[in-house]
Amino acid sequence: AGAIVASLSACAGGGTTGGSSSSGADEGGGQLVGIAMPTQQSERWIQDGNALKEQLEDQGFTTDLQYAEDDIPTQISQIENMITKGAVALIVAAKDGSALTTVLEEAASQDIQVIAYDRLLVNTDAVSYYATFDNFLVGQQQAWSVLNGLGLTELDGTPIDGAPAGPFNIELFAGSSDDNNATFFFNGAMDVLQPLIDAGTLVVKSGQTDFNVVATQDWLGANAQARMEDLLTKSYSDGSKVNAVLSPYDGLSRGIASALKDNGYAVGAGWPIISGQDAEVLSVQYIETGEQYATIFKDTRDLAAQAVKMTVAVLNGEEPEVNNTTDYDNGVKVVPSYLLQPVTVVKDNITTALIDTGYWTQAEIDGAK
Ligand code: BGC
Repeated sequence: AGAIVASLSACAGGGTTGGSSSSGADEGGGQLVGIAMPTQQSERWIQDGNALKEQLEDQGFTTDLQYAEDDIPTQISQIENMITKGAVALIVAAKDGSALTTVLEEAASQDIQVIAYDRLLVNTDAVSYYATFDNFLVGQQQAWSVLNGLGLTELDGTPIDGAPAGPFNIELFAGSSDDNNATFFFNGAMDVLQPLIDAGTLVVKSGQTDFNVVATQDWLGANAQARMEDLLTKSYSDGSKVNAVLSPYDGLSRGIASALKDNGYAVGAGWPIISGQDAEVLSVQYIETGEQYATIFKDTRDLAAQAVKMTVAVLNGEEPEVNNTTDYDNGVKVVPSYLLQPVTVVKDNITTALIDTGYWTQAEIDGAK
């Protein structure tokens, strides 16, 4: 309480009127917000964690930022600790969206506000709001990027006149089945691809089109690499070539590219079109060199800002701004959500999308390993 009083008087002294949605160093009054992130294996979560921490601290909160290293018991005990330390709110990107039910009930019973971050928290009514990107659109954009690379459509899916008839061989990858987003990405992509598969323009030689078959456990590149090796051996040893791979995440795309190289494919003419997500710095370099065709950029700074806005609003007893109240049913309720807009990045717009916005510098892209 001392911190709040101090901050309120500082606020008055600074001449700021105390509108609760105003930003500034005083909003948090030193209160603790727990930030539970899934893993440091994928670059984006490090950026999300850092952006959340920085933006919350800028507003006068203290933070406890933890990474679960993709381990469910670790994430549960990290959240238990945040509760014990007196967190007033939790911002949670779950390793497994359905595994936190008990610990989140505990948080709710203590009136701790829970915001689902990027990934929906399912099978619980303890979650109050959800900040994410339009995940179905991400999947559509991934599919459109593949079609663009094949010369069939523009990046927004508009058909190109005089496009080649194909057929093109494509293989499909989805994300981890314990992540609600993975289904959204895959459904969005298949919404675009299925009509072309039905028409024979695209051919999935392996026949593997079912989410559960093409899912990649834990979003691990090594698992995607192993499955791609297997596909190449089983379905392409007759000399036929893969023309495109739908990949939902840059880390998987790099594993897929490694498998292709191991099987005699070389970057350049005849190298498959590969999609991605997250604008990871090494993959951006690969887009420049042609090893990956596209990625979907989701600016983690914007998502963090949205989640922080939501947190401040709920802590002030206000309704946060949402723009979707229909799509994210978590099995117990439809969670009111704010969906940000993802951006497709190909070679042509790396500068405008990623460098001009300060997300990466050209030196970081060039130096990535
Ligand atoms: C995120 C993606 C990310 C993936 C793997 C998903 O939940 O939305 O941005 O690529 O997890 O970390």
